[in-house]
Amino acid sequence: MKNDTIDREVVDVLIAGGSIAGAAAAAALSKLGLSILIVEPGPAPGRRLAGELIHPPGIEGLCELGLLDENEPLGSAVSGFAIFPANQGEESDCMILPYGESKGKLRCGMAIEHTLLKEHLLERVATFPGVSTRIGSRVTAMEGEGPFVAVVSSADGDTRVEARLILGADGPMSQMRKMVGISHVTQRYSGMMGAEVEEKYLPHAGYGNIFLNPVGVAYAYAIGGGRARIMFEVLRDADPKESIRTHLSFFPDSLREAVEQNMDENKPLAAANYCIIPEASVKSNFALVGDARGCCHPLTASGITAAVKDALILRDSLMETKRGDQFNFNAALRRFSRICGRLQLTRRTLAEELREAFLSQTPSDLLLNQCIFSYWRKSANGRMRSMELLSMLDSSIYSLAVQYALVALHVFRLFPRWAKEKKLSAWFMGVFKLFSKSLEFQHTALTQWLKA
Ligand SMILES: Cc1cc2nc3c(=O)[nH]c(=O)nc-3n(C[C@H](O)[C@H](O)[C@H](O)COP(=O)(O)OP(=O)(O)OC[C@H]3O[C@@H](n4cnc5c(N)ncnc54)[C@H](O)[C@@H]3O)c2cc1C
Repeated sequence: MKNDTIDREVVDVLIAGGSIAGAAAAAALSKLGLSILIVEPGPAPGRRLAGELIHPPGIEGLCELGLLDENEPLGSAVSGFAIFPANQGEESDCMILPYGESKGKLRCGMAIEHTLLKEHLLERVATFPGVSTRIGSRVTAMEGEGPFVAVVSSADGDTRVEARLILGADGPMSQMRKMVGISHVTQRYSGMMGAEVEEKYLPHAGYGNIFLNPVGVAYAYAIGGGRARIMFEVLRDADPKESIRTHLSFFPDSLREAVEQNMDENKPLAAANYCIIPEASVKSNFALVGDARGCCHPLTASGITAAVKDALILRDSLMETKRGDQFNFNAALRRFSRICGRLQLTRRTLAEELREAFLSQTPSDLLLNQCIFSYWRKSANGRMRSMELLSMLDSSIYSLAVQYALVALHVFRLFPRWAKEKKLSAWFMGVFKLFSKSLEFQHTALTQWLKA
């Protein structure tokens, strides 16, 4: 009975979630003249840590969509990564990985305080033609077997919204995914704790500082206004206090003291790190974007860039499949799913390999870790290609396979060191694993190429 009495509304596109993925998708689709409704419940109680560092393709995408203005810097410019290896004996110097150049100009990313970024994007997109926002509302049900109709609930009651396209931009723990029956695989890696200090304590201001050590990864980067974000990974079953003490022991003295003081005075922010792989990213008139479409370990800091790319790919897919003045949503979603699936595979595989190399303590992962640093030290081109993959400028699994093979070849350079340390059997095991992984990647790249 209730269903017959609730309000009914019709739009071209309904977007559940008004954070980064939702705002970027709305901006992209607004350019196509579609009517768009963004439904956003509003800030969840208690601030949590989330993405802030955005690679150049993400910044360029946000500028292209009209959501960011290069002349109105909201945060702090980022020129690449400064990576501090845990313990590589004589070769423990910080490794600088710049983003490289585009048209003779240095590419630049940006780090923006998460809540500020989210609010800015939503405010900006609400002024775009055809876009309306409903804050304080959420999608609570998806009716039908497809095409789906969404039920939007707020304090004023429920509305049934019919849309040609419904986007689930509701984050990694997406309820939309569940409502339409898309299952997923989840792996929880670790937790993250964060603090804020003054930017002047960063060893390499202007870079995303990454400290690698056996208890996880720690990040430090400027977020604008003279402030810097510090994040520590806390592995599963580890004692947070003990982990943070270990992380801090790898920091330069002045940064360590500043963080200790901040943590004495303030409650740290927290978050969890997951890898989530949904079984599909589209179903009938429904598609997932951003973290709802899948997420991985934040080591590569690529979640926001991926969300912006989703929006651009969706827009291009609709344009590409348009016949006359009619959009072909089905064909567009198939194209979107195919292209995003490829990007996500590369992004997830890269994050997974780096996580294993940097965190796992098995001999083969240690060998991979040393090969990566050896490769970066010896090859400027290798540093550039790695950053192209990390920043999603290059999302081809083929490029990843080539880079992996080039990294693996450094096992031979490391042979004398492992022989001197009497670890030859571990070296042989490591070589076997690296080369079989390398073949696996070549195979995946070839299969994908044949499919394409
Ligand atoms: C610790 C940590 C560090 C990270 N660091 C980085 C980094 O440096 N760089 C980077 O690029 N990425 C990073 N990420 C990833 C990044 O935070 C995410 O990729 C990004 O926030 C995803 O944005 P989103 O819009 O998809 O989802 P979210 O930001 O999670 O937004 C989902 C939105 O959906 C809304 N919502 C929820 N349910 C409903 C519903 N039923 N109906 C309507 N709306 C709903 C929520 O209120 C929320 O606003 C990090 C992640 C973590 C956990």
